[in-house]
Amino acid sequence: MLIVMNRDATEEQVNGVIRTVELQGFTAHPIPGGERTSIGVLYNQGAIDEALFRSLPGVKETLPVTKPYKLVSREFHPVDTVVRVGDVSIGGDSLTIIGGPCAVESEEQVMAIAKHVKMAGGDMLRGGAFKPRTSPYAFHGLGEEGLQILAKVREAFGLPIVTEVMDLDCFDMVENYADIIQIGTRNMQNFSLLRRAGHAGKPILLKRGMSATVDEWLMAAEYVMTEGNPDVILCERGVRTFVKHSRNTLDLSAIPVVRRESHLPIIVDPSHAAGYRDQVMPLARAAAAVSAHGLMIEVHHAPETAKCDGGQALLPDQFDLLCRQMRAIFDVSASAER
Ligand code: PEP
Ligand code: MN
Repeated sequence: MLIVMNRDATEEQVNGVIRTVELQGFTAHPIPGGERTSIGVLYNQGAIDEALFRSLPGVKETLPVTKPYKLVSREFHPVDTVVRVGDVSIGGDSLTIIGGPCAVESEEQVMAIAKHVKMAGGDMLRGGAFKPRTSPYAFHGLGEEGLQILAKVREAFGLPIVTEVMDLDCFDMVENYADIIQIGTRNMQNFSLLRRAGHAGKPILLKRGMSATVDEWLMAAEYVMTEGNPDVILCERGVRTFVKHSRNTLDLSAIPVVRRESHLPIIVDPSHAAGYRDQVMPLARAAAAVSAHGLMIEVHHAPETAKCDGGQALLPDQFDLLCRQMRAIFDVSASAER
């Protein structure tokens, strides 16, 4: 439930409502707004006595929250969340483009790719130092050495870095180097990892589980937010379907649904959705057209040598063209929505 205070409610009245929420055994989550304060009620198991709260001084109305998620919902927080990393904003009216290799392979490789990402106007650099792989025999990343390479490249090009955390063991280490910590599709419902992410001092990029519904995905984000981290960015990366012509099926309809239900930024990863280079550009353009807040795209200057996902990596020239196309499409779709 959401308790909406009068515009002129005093601090004392707000505190009175919070105290009553706590006396009932629930948790109060105050949400200061431009015009008025609201107070979200969390951790209630059953129905709440709305009349009790409506009768308190300073209360304008009480609104039942119909969704299982609360902190991520627009009902709780009507205004778009904008996550800031240095000069880069994700969410609101921005289109943020993240490019880079699937995996960090060497310093030369990441330097070469970052140069192209920067020249194309990319905002951030991606690259995995810890790689979740289907096969135990595959390349699993360079670990801390990979993170050190990313940090060096960040220095050289001024591009903030997004990199994946795979488990609790390496969380502190990844948190130390990353600007945005990625939780991958296979870990979307790793609840202990989500809770740890809630205590991180960095934003979390939460990819959609490959078979997760939008509600399950938003509940995963709720885990991070209830632990105290408000900076969650959602990333649609395709869901598993029966088709064979692509690695996954990009669920573009999830973007308007998430934008309606949640205030959190939502970006799209067309690379892992497609699995094939020739599908990446059309899907990326489509993502910009449905007003995703950004894109994360795999780029490699020598994909034939890539240790991971070379077949879906865009070549630098393609990435450059795509960045220009996406910005033009986003401008048109944003003005259509205004
Ligand atoms: C990745 O972005 O490097 C990755 C492994 O993606 P996903 O978790 O979506 O498969
Ligand atoms: Mn990849």
